[in-house]
Amino acid sequence: MRGLAGKTALVTGASSGIGQAIAIRLAEEGCNVVINYRRKLEEGQHTEEIALQKAQDSGHNVRSLLVQGDVSKEEDVLRIVNSAIAEFGTLDILVNNAGIQFEAPSHEVPIDRFDQVMMVNLRGAFLCAREVIKHFLSQQRPGVIINVSSVHEIIPRPMYVSYALSKGGMGSLTKTLALEYADRGIRVNSIAPGATVTPINQDWVNDPEKKAVVKSHIPMARPGTSEEMAAAVAFLASGEAAYMTGQTLFIDGGLTLYADFREAWSA
Ligand code: NAD
Repeated sequence: MRGLAGKTALVTGASSGIGQAIAIRLAEEGCNVVINYRRKLEEGQHTEEIALQKAQDSGHNVRSLLVQGDVSKEEDVLRIVNSAIAEFGTLDILVNNAGIQFEAPSHEVPIDRFDQVMMVNLRGAFLCAREVIKHFLSQQRPGVIINVSSVHEIIPRPMYVSYALSKGGMGSLTKTLALEYADRGIRVNSIAPGATVTPINQDWVNDPEKKAVVKSHIPMARPGTSEEMAAAVAFLASGEAAYMTGQTLFIDGGLTLYADFREAWSA
């Protein structure tokens, strides 16, 4: 896609699922990739291996950097961003992908579990955005931030109150930062995946009965793939989206179209 080759992108939580697919796709488009992983080096290395191979296959000579770090910790975020800049001289794209969820009836949610979800999904995204915006401004160069939100940015999610709050907040984070920095060439957008086949959903991904229930709620009758999410991120990061900021792109097979209205039931 136009304008991606030669750029440097940091992807948080890039060792699995959607984040892994994003790092791979951006490398395939010619970006150097900074692969943040939370725990296991081998998982980050797996992403790196595929990303470099795909880049080579598509004729791009890209470099990569693996950086361990917990995005909910300020010192880790500073280290991640500073290592990226030290290695590549600059950063052009941030993808705030790292995310967790916690399931429990809202009246039984332990406050430390509530805080943990908010710390990773929202505070972590803000911290990373704050640090890369500082860098973009200091270099007086344009930059792109893409937040991986969710359809639960707008759809309520019983039993997952902290997750729903964090993604609702992410919508506001996207719009606020987009407005604040639009005149300095910094674009901030989100993608909002619907049900996607990744490890976060292993509960239904590997259970045919549960998977059938998931499919029955999706107008396009199938879950999405990480690669479909990564394609939207590549678009938003590219020059093709040069005039877009403050938007959330819903990539959800129609999940946000009120599937209950597929057939007339109110007449
Ligand atoms: P996943 O569990 O495979 O990926 C989450 C990643 O975040 C993992 O690599 C994990 O190591 C990383 N992570 C968790 N805590 C972290 C921390 N403190 N610091 C750094 N990294 C951390 O699941 P996924 O589905 O690929 O999720 C990626 C993003 O997509 C999340 O933000 C999630 O909310 C969002 N999303 C997923 C779906 C879906 O159906 N899979 C739908 C909507 C939104």
